[in-house]
Amino acid sequence: MDTNINLNVFNSQVNLLDLDFKKIQLFLTSIGAKNFTTEQIMTWIYNHNCYDFDKMSNISKNIRKKLSQNSYIKISNFSEEKVSSDGTIKWVTSLNNQKIETVYIPEKKRSTLCISSQIGCALKCDFCATGKQGFSRNLKVSEIISQILQAKKKLKGTRLTNIVFMGMGEPLLNLNNVITALKIILNTNGFGLSKRRITLSTSGIIPALDKLSKKIDINLAISLHASNNHIRNLIMPINKKYNIESLLTAVSRYLKHSNANRNGVTIEYVMLQDINDSIKNAEELAYILKKIPSKINLIPWNSFKNSNFVSSNRNTINVFANILRKKGFNTTIRKNRGKDIHAACGQLTGNVINRSKNHL
Ligand code: SAH
Ligand code: SF4
Repeated sequence: MDTNINLNVFNSQVNLLDLDFKKIQLFLTSIGAKNFTTEQIMTWIYNHNCYDFDKMSNISKNIRKKLSQNSYIKISNFSEEKVSSDGTIKWVTSLNNQKIETVYIPEKKRSTLCISSQIGCALKCDFCATGKQGFSRNLKVSEIISQILQAKKKLKGTRLTNIVFMGMGEPLLNLNNVITALKIILNTNGFGLSKRRITLSTSGIIPALDKLSKKIDINLAISLHASNNHIRNLIMPINKKYNIESLLTAVSRYLKHSNANRNGVTIEYVMLQDINDSIKNAEELAYILKKIPSKINLIPWNSFKNSNFVSSNRNTINVFANILRKKGFNTTIRKNRGKDIHAACGQLTGNVINRSKNHL
């Protein structure tokens, strides 16, 4: 269910974490507050991690009273934490017995938070643990935003430099809430991140991609994972609806209006032994991407229970990468971070091992 707030009827209490700047402003007008109160409230929430109206000392008592009568600030807390030997941290949020995961990945020059947009995923890609789990529901804006607020609190002084929608779920199938969350991430009174530091990864829901293009400019990562429709149909059922040609055409349309992707779109390609990793596949991939400004990110496949795939080995991945590089593509091989705590790409299912030991 989308969290589309009906702005004419703020007659039930509203969670301010579900609203972006403009919607908070409309809400405040409806309770008779001045426009500048929006900045004040957002600063309390996003800068000071303060969720208590009584402590918002620069807001008048009268408005604070109205705020607590008509709204609330409810964060979804992390309930479990696992720290990897490589410094990656996985946090779990419990939402009525269901779980979502958020992953923090520290690197030398940046620190990235990987967030979830849905509980499970309906798209059933064969190689993905989240897909195998099935779909439960969309996350509310507040549930998406809470992952960032909580992570910032846990990390104390450490600044988050990048946010990626690469956790559980297909962000473009929760478009309205994801757009509102993106607005909060971009807003200077919110998290204030630049559009080049936010990446949305999608398996390619074309109508939603076109809609996104009209609303917001951010970095795109496309889960392509195959060099032809035959292979993509086998591993990603969504390809039967939106095939490679139509997807790449939609990506070109997005790029036309995008500044965030000025170095090209990221193409994600999971390396599956004997499925999509031959020399012919590499050449075919270079061919279909000829007209798309792109960087290619090869992802060693991460295993999970009851799955039949095998990851391509290092040598095969290197050969594949070098073919692409020779054809002029900026090609990287993704490091596997947090594998020991099941925090790597495609391993997120909401199950945490040794749960009892890691309760917060
Ligand atoms: N639904 C979105 C975003 C979440 S998945 C999407 O599909 O793009 C983030 C990335 O991890 C995607 O590129 C996805 O294809 C990849 N992935 C999924 N399962 C994986 C696995 N087991 N090993 C490696 N990468 C995987
Ligand atoms: Fe869903 Fe992405 Fe996993 Fe496919 S790869 S099942 S779209 S989360």
